Amino acid sequence: MPILVMKFGGTSVANLDRIRRAAKRVGVEVAKGYDVIVIVSAMSGKTNELVGWVGETSPLYDAREYDAVVSSGENVTAGLMALTLQEMDIPARSWQGWQVPVMTTSAHSQARIEDIPPANIKAKFAEGMKVAVVAGFQGVSPEGRITTLGRGGSDTTAVAFAAAFDAERCDIYTDVDGVYTTDPRICDKARKLDRISFEEMLELASLGAKVLQTRSVELAMRYKVKLRVLSSFEEQSDTAGTLVCDEEEIMESNVVAGVAYSRDEAKLTLVSVADRPGIAATIFTALGDAGVNVDMIVQNIGEDGRTDMTFSCPTDQVMRAETAIAEARKENVLNFEELIADKDVAKISVVGIGMRSHTGVAAQMFRVLSAEGINIKIITTSEIKISVLIDRKYMELAVQALHDAFDLDKAG
Ligand code: ADP
Ligand code: ASP
Ligand code: MG
Repeated sequence: MPILVMKFGGTSVANLDRIRRAAKRVGVEVAKGYDVIVIVSAMSGKTNELVGWVGETSPLYDAREYDAVVSSGENVTAGLMALTLQEMDIPARSWQGWQVPVMTTSAHSQARIEDIPPANIKAKFAEGMKVAVVAGFQGVSPEGRITTLGRGGSDTTAVAFAAAFDAERCDIYTDVDGVYTTDPRICDKARKLDRISFEEMLELASLGAKVLQTRSVELAMRYKVKLRVLSSFEEQSDTAGTLVCDEEEIMESNVVAGVAYSRDEAKLTLVSVADRPGIAATIFTALGDAGVNVDMIVQNIGEDGRTDMTFSCPTDQVMRAETAIAEARKENVLNFEELIADKDVAKISVVGIGMRSHTGVAAQMFRVLSAEGINIKIITTSEIKISVLIDRKYMELAVQALHDAFDLDKAG
C-alpha cells in the first residue's frame, strides 16, 4: 500500500469535534487505499500552558524535566485520535515517540531526529492496521529519556516519518490554507502561494514564519519529500494548499518572495568591554555554554581600548544570557561597565531567491522603513535575505509597508 503522512497542528485537534473532523479527512485518504501515518500536535494552547508551568516551577529549569512535562500534550491527542478513528471502524493504533522509536540526540528541548526504524509500524500495517497515529514533537534519547524537538516540532516529526517510510506525500494540515507572502494574521493583503521553493521556505521559517518548523523544511529538502501545507477546515482537492518544491518547478518569480517577522527578540548590549583579541570568543563561548541562541551581533568601533558589543537572542533566553555574563564577570574572564537588555524589539526580514541577481533590495527596504519613521537597530544579510531589528511597536507597520513596497499582493 502507498503511504501518506498527514499532520494535524494544534488548532486542528483543539477539541473533540475538531479531532473528529480531522479523523474524517484521514478516513477519506484511507478510502483511497492509503496506509496513513497521522502525526498530531497537542491541543492548541496546551504546550504553552505546560511550558508556563515549567517556568513557574523552575526558572532555569533542567531541560530533561522540561521535556518530560511538555511532551505530554501530544500523548493525549494521539490516543484520542486513535479512539476516534476506531469509532469510525478504521483500524488505528497510537504510538508515543519512544514506542516507535523516534531516536533523537540528547539535546533536550531541541533534540534532532537521528533515526526512525520503520519495522514496528510496518508490521502493524501488514496485520491490517490502516492508520498509525504518532505523537508529534517527541522522541527518545540514547540514554532512554524523552526528548522534544523544539517548538513547532511536530512538522519535523511529520517530514521525518515521510522520509523514513518513503511516503507518497507529507500533508501539513493547519489553520491557514497554505503558505502566504507574509503572515495573513497581520497583513490583510498577504497572498497565498501555490508553490514556494525549499530555500525560500527555509529562510522564511528560520526568520519567524511559524507555519513550518525550519528543521522540517531542511529534512524535506534533503530527502526530497513532497511537502504540502493546507487547511484542515476546508474541503480539499489533490492540488489544494501550497506545495514546497524545487526552485525549477516554479514559474512565478518576484524578487522578494515573502516577509517574515519574529516578535520575541531581545537586544543585549555589553557596554565598554576591553577591545582585545579573544573578547568575542569569551562572551559568545559563555553564552553558547549556557544554551543561549545568539542571532545578530554587532561590535562598535573601539575607543581607548574599550568597545560595546551588542547581540540579539530570543526574549525568553535573556535571563540565561544575563546569568552567563554575570558568571563570566565573577570569574574575572570578562570585565565591562554594564549590561543593558532591551526586550521590546522585533526582527523583520525580506526573503527571495531573486536577490541573488537583483541589487538594491536592501536600499529599498531601508527607504521604506525610514519613510515610516522606523529606526533600524541591527542589520544582517545573506544571499537571499535581509533582516533588521526594530522596536516591537512598529513590527506590524513594517511588515505591511514592506509587503506593499515589494508588490507582494501581486503575482510576479
Ligand atoms: P499549527 O498549530 O497547525 O502547527 P502554527 O500556529 O504553528 O499552526 O502555524 C500556522 C500559523 O503560522 C498561521 O496561523 C499563521 O498565523 C502563521 N504564519 C506566519 N507566517 C506565515 C506565512 N507566511 N504563511 C502562512 N502562515 C503564516
Ligand atoms: N505542540 C508543540 C508546540 O506547540 C509542537 C507542535 O505543535 O508542533 O510547539
Ligand atoms: Mg506549528
